[in-house]
Amino acid sequence: MAEHIGNGGRRAELAANLTRVRERIRAACEAAGRADEPELIVVTKFHPASDVRLLAELGVTDVGENRDQEASAKAAELADLPLTWHFIGQLQTNKAKSVVRYADVIHSIDRSSLVGALGKAAAAAGLQDLACLVQVNLDPEAAPGRGGALPAEVPALSQLIDDTPGLKIAGVMAVAPLGADPAAAFRRLMAVSAGMRARFSAATMVSAGMSQDLEAAVAAGATHLRIGTDVLGARPAVG
Ligand SMILES: *Cc1c(COP(=O)(O)O)cnc(C)c1O
Repeated sequence: MAEHIGNGGRRAELAANLTRVRERIRAACEAAGRADEPELIVVTKFHPASDVRLLAELGVTDVGENRDQEASAKAAELADLPLTWHFIGQLQTNKAKSVVRYADVIHSIDRSSLVGALGKAAAAAGLQDLACLVQVNLDPEAAPGRGGALPAEVPALSQLIDDTPGLKIAGVMAVAPLGADPAAAFRRLMAVSAGMRARFSAATMVSAGMSQDLEAAVAAGATHLRIGTDVLGARPAVG
């Protein structure tokens, strides 16, 4: 069956999906009265490197991955492509050394121990300014230490990143809490971003919005959208 569909079929499918997503982004910008379109990061986790290559041929410049082992293998296989790699997943400190080898932006910094590990790894790799986003937990009932830093923890974490040689503070990232109104959640994220920018004017990135809630993210003012399913289709089940 897969033989029958072939690469041409997959290419056409990805092209059609991309067109639809770009159209949604354009419509959302128009509805929000935004002249500046956010960047599209296509989240390619669980999909093969061959898909990433097709996406690059279709004009995709930015890809997102959430597992170090999978991401490092793909980045190595696709080293000939001029792609920007975004690491968007939970990151263990013992993976810092590996991640800094291929990632251009780390979206998921949520604790000081990770800043320390990334700083050491970046310095050892000779990196000057690895772009770092603080992942913010937008669940108002959140307990500390789960899926992002609490808004109150963001200033100290940003300062620590700014103080760490090899790293630069580039902005904020969030996932809308399950079952919550994404518009309200992303407004909270924009407030956290404003606080960060008041202190670090270059920290302008706001990474928010997935397949389900990209319109809300565009309306709130996201600068980077992370779209997986609506470009690549459902992720293959993990065994
Ligand atoms: C998987 C993932 C996405 C993409 O989600 P889709 O619903 O497939 O568009 C975005 N952000 C993060 C952090 C993810 O893990």
